[in-house]
Amino acid sequence: MSYNRCGNSGLKLPSLSLGLWQNFGAVDSPKNAQNMLHRAFDLGINHFDLANNYGPPFGSAESTFGQVMAKSFKPYRDEMLVSSKAGYDMWAGPYGIGGSRKYLIASCDQSLKRTGLDYFDVFYSHCYDPETPLEETMQALDYIVRSGRALYAGISSYSPVHTKQAIRILQDLGTPLLIHQPSYNMFDRWIEDGLSDVLLEEGVGSIVFSPLAQGFLTNKYLKGVPQGSRASRSEQIYLTEDNISQEKVAKVMQLNELAIQRGQSLAQMAVAWVLNNQAVTSAIIGASKVSQIEDCVAALDNLEFTQQELINIDNILGK
Ligand code: NDP
Repeated sequence: MSYNRCGNSGLKLPSLSLGLWQNFGAVDSPKNAQNMLHRAFDLGINHFDLANNYGPPFGSAESTFGQVMAKSFKPYRDEMLVSSKAGYDMWAGPYGIGGSRKYLIASCDQSLKRTGLDYFDVFYSHCYDPETPLEETMQALDYIVRSGRALYAGISSYSPVHTKQAIRILQDLGTPLLIHQPSYNMFDRWIEDGLSDVLLEEGVGSIVFSPLAQGFLTNKYLKGVPQGSRASRSEQIYLTEDNISQEKVAKVMQLNELAIQRGQSLAQMAVAWVLNNQAVTSAIIGASKVSQIEDCVAALDNLEFTQQELINIDNILGK
């Protein structure tokens, strides 16, 4: 594993992090979850990304992580980074969603209980809340850090403008913004329209989610939707059979050819591609099997792209 400095901070993040959004809930195999966490850590993926509502049901991915923590990870706590978030829907009523101080602090306390941790390394505002003054959300993050509940503050999916505002507010409060967590992959390049520049200018790191477009940027959907894959699961709302169009599959086929020419799997090329953006500190992959984690880590053997390869990728994607 390689470790990259997160913006101007003193903290280094592994090039690959593991997210527990899917496949670590109470509905999933605890043994498989434990095996994936162990294998990831053994491969140097020492950063685990959580949120209050990962599961299903909500909260259960944090509980799964807490069980592994208690059973085997505890001696290694100082060698790992664990993050969590609050912002999206978590519990009923007005205090279980949004960016209020009430929600963020209560949710952080609940997340600490579920994971059994004394503190998170990073605590995030999961999304910008237009109904809450940004000052209040940032003051809540500052308090979470000052009270020892987290070591660093983060924001996720904030626009470039709101990111700049958040950076200023946190700077004034004396708790610098460590990191931004946006989506980023070959199909979803919104960070290239301003956010990457803001983060580089301001010395804030970034950890990008869904680098494999939820599994679509792998060779798994080339011949339809295989059973057991994320898109085949009925509860899915973000990656469904309906949004796997023939047009997109045709592009994935061409990308797959390019990956083969590079001597990589498409998943590996997709990971290498996001890490090629100099604003990106780490890529958070998801996984349903140990072998996928191993495959993604091997991406680090070839992170270099020739100018022609990058042009070919842009051409395939119509950029
Ligand atoms: P990815 O784009 O990495 O997709 C992960 C899925 O891709 C896996 O579940 C698996 O799908 C498939 N896969 C992974 N590796 C391989 C491989 N080598 N070969 C073939 N298929 C592979 O990321 P996610 O969408 O899962 O997101 C990652 C993390 O990002 C989340 O867990 C979460 O921590 C964070 N996140 C944050 C958000 C935010 O709002 N801040 C929003 C979404 C995610 P299959 O299950 O089909 O096998």
